[in-house]
Amino acid sequence: MRKYLVAGNWKMNGSRTMVASLLQDLILKLADMPADLDCVICPPSLYLEQVNNIIQNSNYEKLIQLGAQNSASSAATAFTGEISPVMLREFACTYVIIGHSERRQLLQETDALVAAKFQLAKQSGLRPILCVGETQAENAAGQGFAVVARQLHAVVQHVGVQSFSDAVIAYEPVWAIGTGLTATPEQAQAMHAQIRGSLAALDKNIAANIRIIYGGSVSSSNAAALFAQADIDGGLIGGASLKAQDFSGICHAAMSMTK
Ligand code: PEP
Repeated sequence: MRKYLVAGNWKMNGSRTMVASLLQDLILKLADMPADLDCVICPPSLYLEQVNNIIQNSNYEKLIQLGAQNSASSAATAFTGEISPVMLREFACTYVIIGHSERRQLLQETDALVAAKFQLAKQSGLRPILCVGETQAENAAGQGFAVVARQLHAVVQHVGVQSFSDAVIAYEPVWAIGTGLTATPEQAQAMHAQIRGSLAALDKNIAANIRIIYGGSVSSSNAAALFAQADIDGGLIGGASLKAQDFSGICHAAMSMTK
C-alpha cells in the first residue's frame, strides 16, 4: 500500500512573518489529521530552520516533513551559490524537489544535470521528488508520453532503477503549472500509468511501491478526483500551498482516500 504524499512548493515566496503565520494557521487546520499521510513543506532554503523550529515546537514533526526546492549536482565545495544535500540534511530536510520545470526552463537544467542532482541527493540520504512533464507545445504535438519517458529514463540510466526505491516522481504538465488549467483525472492517470508501467518493465517491486504524485493547479476542489485515480498517490502543490485553507483541504482530500 502506498502512503499518500502532499508536498507544498512555496517557490520564491516567503518572509519571516509570512512563514510564521502560514504555518500556525496550517497547524491548526491539520490538527485532526492522523500521521498516515506524508505532508511535506518545501520553503525557500533560507526559511528551512524557521519552518523546522515551528514544526518541532508544535510536535508536528510526524505529520509535516521538510523538503528543499533544489540541491547541488556535485559535492565540490568550490560551487558558489549552491546548497549541498548534506547541508539540507543538517537542516532536517528529508525530501528535495529535483528537476522542477521552472528550473529546467528558466535555468536550462538539462536531463543530465537533473540526473546528477538526483544521484547526489540519494547518496546523501534525501528522497528526491523528481519532476517530469511536457510543455504545452509538446502536448499539442502529441509528444507528452515521449517527453516524460525521455526525462525519466535519463535519470534511470544514470542511477539505476534501484535508486528509485525511496524516490517520488511528480508528473507536472508544464501547461498546468500556475495556469489554473489542470489535467483531467483521466489524462493524469494515463500518464501516471505510463510512468509506472515503464518502471515495471525494469523492476516490478519498485514500480508497485513508488509514489507518483500529480502537480499542476491542484486545488482543494479538484484534488479528490485526481487522488482517486489508481496511479495518483498525492500532489505537488504550488499556489495553493501558500494558503492554509487550500493546502489543508488538499491534505484532507488525500487523507480520505485509501489505496
Ligand atoms: C508547482 O509549481 O510545482 C505547481 C504545481 O504549481 P501550481 O500548483 O501553482 O500549479
